[in-house]
Amino acid sequence: WNAEVFDIQEIIDSSISLVDYQLKKNKIHLTLSIEENLPGIRGDGLKLMQVMVNLINNAVDAMEEEEERKLIISALKSKGGILLKVEDSGNGISPEIIPRLFDPFFTTKSAGKGTGLGLSVCYGIIQQFGGSIEVESKCEEGSVFKLFLPLSEGKG
Ligand code: ADP
Ligand code: MG
Repeated sequence: WNAEVFDIQEIIDSSISLVDYQLKKNKIHLTLSIEENLPGIRGDGLKLMQVMVNLINNAVDAMEEEEERKLIISALKSKGGILLKVEDSGNGISPEIIPRLFDPFFTTKSAGKGTGLGLSVCYGIIQQFGGSIEVESKCEEGSVFKLFLPLSEGKG
């Protein structure tokens, strides 16, 4: 566990370059809205990249059947930390499965397409940051995953 202070903008940029090919291939329109001069976050930046890539991959899967494929990634200052959002115009999530979403091995994807581990790993990582992750979704409209990352306290 590498607990350096990192720049969230850099982590978002690196995450996007990892999925860039996929976004282009799937004709996904990306909107980035990153507030300037966001405070540094203490934790392992690579772990946060893992979370972002997981959320983006899920968004890509969710938009497979849609004609309009929009992905919005935003980051803004929020009380005591940073609020990160990954929003898609995909198929949405039905309310009855929301409570199981972060469970290990919970998946609605066919074998070979998903292991159901992505979101449980994301949950664990965000816990390590002392933050929180939640989802809001409307069937047939899309989903928003919201991450709250608290500011590093004390020295450094
Ligand atoms: P996997 O992607 O391998 O199925 P995840 O843990 O990443 O596993 O996600 C679990 C389930 O949550 C998915 O199978 C899917 O049903 C649902 N899900 C996650 N993200 C989204 C999203 N952006 N839109 C719709 N459904 C989603
Ligand atoms: Mg996944």
